[in-house]
Amino acid sequence: MIARLKYLAHRQARPQRYRFLKPLLAHEAMGAEQLQHYQQKQFNAMVSFATEHTEFYRNSYKGIAGPEFNPTALPILTKQDVAKQRDAMVAGGLNQFGLKTSYTGGSTGKPLAYYYTDEKIERMRAGMMRSYRWAGWQQGDKVLNFWGSRHDIRKHRKLFDRLRRFAAAEQTLGAYEYTETDLHSWAQHIQSWKPTLLQGYASILAELARFVQRRQMRMPSTIKGVFSTAEVLYDWQRAAMESAFSCTVFNQYGSREVPNIGLQCAQGNFHVFSDLVKLESVPVDDENRLLVTSLTNHVMPMIRYELGDLGRLKEGQCSCGSPFPLMELDVCRKNDLIVTPGGQMIYPSYFVHLLDGFSGIEQYQFVQQAPGSIVLKLCAGQQVADTVGQALKSRIQADLGSTMSFRVDRVESIPRSRSGKHRFVIGL
Ligand SMILES: [Zn+2]
Repeated sequence: MIARLKYLAHRQARPQRYRFLKPLLAHEAMGAEQLQHYQQKQFNAMVSFATEHTEFYRNSYKGIAGPEFNPTALPILTKQDVAKQRDAMVAGGLNQFGLKTSYTGGSTGKPLAYYYTDEKIERMRAGMMRSYRWAGWQQGDKVLNFWGSRHDIRKHRKLFDRLRRFAAAEQTLGAYEYTETDLHSWAQHIQSWKPTLLQGYASILAELARFVQRRQMRMPSTIKGVFSTAEVLYDWQRAAMESAFSCTVFNQYGSREVPNIGLQCAQGNFHVFSDLVKLESVPVDDENRLLVTSLTNHVMPMIRYELGDLGRLKEGQCSCGSPFPLMELDVCRKNDLIVTPGGQMIYPSYFVHLLDGFSGIEQYQFVQQAPGSIVLKLCAGQQVADTVGQALKSRIQADLGSTMSFRVDRVESIPRSRSGKHRFVIGL
């Protein structure tokens, strides 16, 4: 009854979001072929819209985006293009009503500015609501967010006080920096508030899950799913969350500038939301680079935008019954690769697993400062650091070559990036 009231109140407060949700739910009932046709139509429409309404696309698509254009002939949009051309990418000019600026995390270390409107946020939230339903969430059910981004949190300082909004059935905890005391109070809050979903950065949720396991805290059976987002989700993190919260972990794929790209279903397959985006995998220098086109962003069209992630589209269908096509996401970004003295590229998961079995490590980060050289930043006691240092040095040199240099730097803490993400491995 209360859930129903909350849902009605929320619907009243966010009419646009629910209006956007309706067609999204209808798309889930389409067949795969029908969806593909829909996507094609939306993509063509977006290209014409961008060519007509923005200076940037008008110039860069000159002579290419005619009526019979070849999509793969359209140039790739890089982050550098966005940094230089963002004003010229806005449809309808910069002085239009309601235009706001936000920043992406900037995995390259430098935040990237982009423009958006409230409508884009409502579309994003509608897309997220559709995703939640994959876990059995229903409108009105509670969602507890752990957002780590400094600029998201600034406006929500006293979160527990301010965000207890009856209508939203949603609360957000500022998880930028935290201590054991915070983890304890969050776990207690989950016990008393009994949310249906937990959502946040993989590293934060995994940390919380490990805390809950260590303290053997009982989590409420109301939790139907954990939505991991914004960071690579490692297997050990998924396992910790599944065991601590006794539910399925759903891995979301998207970025701030183009949200809701895909979702890993309960069967473990990644689906592309092909009614919201067109995803392409383009081979460049032995890598399959992912390009995304937002099919709904008419404020600042993003067409064939290079995300900085690697992956590929997959044929076939999933037993979960979703008509959305499948993809594979490599568990690393280009700048998370480590280069050996011989020029071999090593995936971050190799390094992450090197620490399997060691205890007493609070935080860590592998950093490559020069080719053939790696530093492990470690928050741990001196004895642990010494043991890890010796063990890893011989292992790394055995696996990656005896000229690979390795050392451990003990540190007090490892700062998160400005967006709040923790990166386990940082390449050159
Ligand atoms: Zn599936």
